[in-house]
Amino acid sequence: MARLILFGPPGAGKGTQAAALSRQLKVPHISTGDIFRSAIAARSDLGLKVQNYLDEGKLVPDVVVIDMVRDRLSQPDIAEGWILDGFPRTVPQAQALDQLLSEINQDYSRVLNLQVSEALLIERLLGRQRKDDTEDVIQERLRVYRNDTAPVLAFYEQGTRLVNIDGAADVEIVTSRIQSAVSGVE
Ligand code: AMP
Repeated sequence: MARLILFGPPGAGKGTQAAALSRQLKVPHISTGDIFRSAIAARSDLGLKVQNYLDEGKLVPDVVVIDMVRDRLSQPDIAEGWILDGFPRTVPQAQALDQLLSEINQDYSRVLNLQVSEALLIERLLGRQRKDDTEDVIQERLRVYRNDTAPVLAFYEQGTRLVNIDGAADVEIVTSRIQSAVSGVE
């Protein structure tokens, strides 16, 4: 069953690849960033709480993100699989995810680490139209990635389910690389 974690720096293509995989595998795409952006657009309590973090390219506090993911993973549509995009982003989030999954008797099948050089990341991010894709905010998000998120790789390197994927190619090529990495996954 596909229970996949898409990992990588901002601009690596996690969202695009997660959406394609979600269509192909018919499992929900869970993007913490998308959930926050919807909450902000709806001006909900959650949206008001997280808006500044997103605007500044900072991480939303772990407890807020973990509570939200706990909620999402308690919904019935995740029974047949899921694709996490943008979570976990800190070591405590990775530990919390292990805990959450064991509470529902699930486990992840693969962590797909999309690798893209920093120069290409910046080029891609500057080409998008998102509010947090200004040059200053991009620099901050890359800094946060290096400081807080990259260490999560060491956490997953302890297991055997981490797969590195070269993400510096056209979307379709990266998708087929991911498909090979997840084919036959139980
Ligand atoms: P993304 O769409 O994944 O690039 O996320 C956009 C923004 O949402 C990030 O820059 C953070 O401010 C926030 N965010 C998304 N996921 C997380 C997470 N797992 N932990 C903390 N903040 C997050």
